[in-house]
Amino acid sequence: MTTIPPWYDSKLASVIEQHSSPEDEQALFVYQLDALRSHLERLQQQDAIKLWFAVKANPLSKILQTLDGAGFNFDVASSGELNQVLAQGVPANRILNTGPAKTKKQLASFVKQGVETFVVESLNQLTWLNEAVLEYNETAQNTVKPVVLLRVQLQWQEGEKNPLGGNSLTPFGLSVAQWQSISLEQYPALDVCGLHIFQWGNMLSNEKMFSLWSQMVTPLVELANSIKMTLKVLDLGGGLGIDYLATDQQLNWQQTIEDLAVIKAQAGVEELWLELGRFAVAECGYYVVPVVDKKVNYQQEQLVLAAGINHLLRPAITDQPFPVQLLRDSNQKLQKFDIHGPLCTSMDKLGHLSLPSDVEVGDKLVFGYCGAYGFTESMPFFLCHELAAEYVYEQGEMTPVRPAKSAASYLA
Ligand SMILES: *Cc1c(COP(=O)(O)O)cnc(C)c1O
Repeated sequence: MTTIPPWYDSKLASVIEQHSSPEDEQALFVYQLDALRSHLERLQQQDAIKLWFAVKANPLSKILQTLDGAGFNFDVASSGELNQVLAQGVPANRILNTGPAKTKKQLASFVKQGVETFVVESLNQLTWLNEAVLEYNETAQNTVKPVVLLRVQLQWQEGEKNPLGGNSLTPFGLSVAQWQSISLEQYPALDVCGLHIFQWGNMLSNEKMFSLWSQMVTPLVELANSIKMTLKVLDLGGGLGIDYLATDQQLNWQQTIEDLAVIKAQAGVEELWLELGRFAVAECGYYVVPVVDKKVNYQQEQLVLAAGINHLLRPAITDQPFPVQLLRDSNQKLQKFDIHGPLCTSMDKLGHLSLPSDVEVGDKLVFGYCGAYGFTESMPFFLCHELAAEYVYEQGEMTPVRPAKSAASYLA
């Protein structure tokens, strides 16, 4: 007997079963907007933190509109993301720009488009943003003064308690020592009043997350003091986890809010910010794909799907499969299958996961938690397969937002 996993919605499953796919459509994503809306409303029932959405998790128009409706602000890391958010009618003053690859040209263009909040990740970014704002204010006779947060990357000495479980260096932000070298008077066009830190992923334990946050407060407050910054804003990034591996661990949002209220008081800041990606949208999304072959190879049951990492790359780069379920009902016992996609590389594997033993060619599989890091994180062009379709499900109806496309649509 199969038990229904917590991420699976049987009502939606029957709607997907009824769905008849147009010609070019092999695989599809579907996002449950009603469920997303109520999840987001719950996240907003607090006044401890200001919530932003990390657009890279899912930039689909309908998803952004739903977040906008729930009062989320938006964190963008490229011009493409900025334009997509602006195209949904979100005012630029609710958009924040993060990312390690900001050129002066991009910064100037963001300022011109009305973005007023920046997380800077290097000394160059700080200088360029200051110059861009001075030039903008001169030419247009404006007086904008963007809010700027410095992104900090902490390391712990060998042998000390290392909450991050390793000191691997990333291009995100700068060390405390580097930031201590600046003098804020050199950036008169900017309101440098906050710090940003985010250097972990998929956290599932409230205790561990609180302990990490707590240990960051002291070095951050010391940095602010040493450069005579009045620390008004602390941005703790994202990384709130999703239980992809069905470990039965999950973050308690109420507890998270209480913990953050403590951090806010300890840091003495006016505002505490989070930019949620997966924790906001992962749950609302499903990916549906048919089985095209089934075989036994050296005693291992294998399934080959119509699409794999060309539509869902994440399992290959994180070693975390998305959970799966057979779309139709089956009362056969579960067994483990190696689940592969169609690409001619052994990397194209969506997991080693349990499915009913009678799963057959032509059956459809549904993967869960695909609302984040799905469609746009993938590698759709390799081997010239179809692009997946994207649908939204709202008030009992499945509506296409992006049709599936054959390779002819993108090949040159
Ligand atoms: C990706 C990203 C996030 C969101 O991460 P999740 O783990 O999906 O919550 C938040 N902030 C920044 C700066 C990011 O790059």
